[in-house]
Amino acid sequence: MSAIILDGKAFAGRVRARVAEHVAQLHADHGITPGLAVVLVGEDPASQVYVRSKGKQTREVGMASFEHRLDATTSEAELLGLIADLNADPQINGILVQLPLPAHLDSDLVIAAIDPAKDVDGFHISNVGLLGTGQKAMVPCTPLGCLMMLRDHHGSLSGLDAVVVGRSNIVGKPMAQLLLGESCTVTIAHSRTRDLDQVCRRADILIAAVGRPEMIPGDWVKRGASVIDVGINRIADGDKTRLVGDVHFESAAQVAGAITPVPGGVGPMTIACLLANTLTATCRLHGLPEPEGLTV
Ligand code: NDP
Repeated sequence: MSAIILDGKAFAGRVRARVAEHVAQLHADHGITPGLAVVLVGEDPASQVYVRSKGKQTREVGMASFEHRLDATTSEAELLGLIADLNADPQINGILVQLPLPAHLDSDLVIAAIDPAKDVDGFHISNVGLLGTGQKAMVPCTPLGCLMMLRDHHGSLSGLDAVVVGRSNIVGKPMAQLLLGESCTVTIAHSRTRDLDQVCRRADILIAAVGRPEMIPGDWVKRGASVIDVGINRIADGDKTRLVGDVHFESAAQVAGAITPVPGGVGPMTIACLLANTLTATCRLHGLPEPEGLTV
């Protein structure tokens, strides 16, 4: 058996096209341009690449992009002051503080300062609580992207056995909540899980969000399962490097029914969902109907 490849790059392109259509409509009907503010503190090279890419894609869908690049020595009070300004600014519908923050800044405190209605990363405790209780929330972008791809492939996920490997606040836990919301039977596995191979073999839907290169081999995958590989790991390959996921793609693709590649799977969906969340936040802030299929 050879798995269907779930092409996140193409899917993300379709999501962005839908977002762009709605943005144009919002502007035509109501004169509203959604605005996304991205705050970067310090000079982490990976974060700089992400922020640049977010800004470019935000503009491409017709939204306004506001980038705030702050010095690595920025104080907590200064950062909280900026967030208060962004919360109060009617041009801004979404606020994202790029993580990780320099060590002297408390990221929990900073995230708590963002207006939950503008929290397009879905990390604010209010959104975590809303998602956990099955209410309308801002949903973290990466798990939202995974869910969109799973819904597109399966239609209904009801009754399926889902195993999420990883329990981080940004991927594993919200992913499990979303799958529970779809009426899956959900298991969350982590570094202390016993017999992880057997746990994984039960999964109709296997989500890997660990950060360990190719740790899940094909013989941990149930025949016909859908495998969503969130991991992004850079490994040495001769004198170069390359990206691999948490799943051993070649062997898993022999048994899975469907699988996301790395790169080109979940990765591109994350920014597409950030744009979808910014559009959703804009509609909610203005009391307008939300576009269908771009959130849960
Ligand atoms: P974290 O490091 O926050 O969490 C990793 C999780 O994996 C933890 O819950 C940990 O368990 C678990 N884990 C670690 N080792 C093992 C093991 N041997 N067996 C089982 N579980 C294990 O990572 P993130 O959730 O932030 O990210 C996970 C991966 O996803 C990374 O590769 C990251 O780069 C990628 N990522 C990709 C995104 C995208 O856009 N595609 C976005 C975000 C992340 P414990 O809690 O017990 O320590």
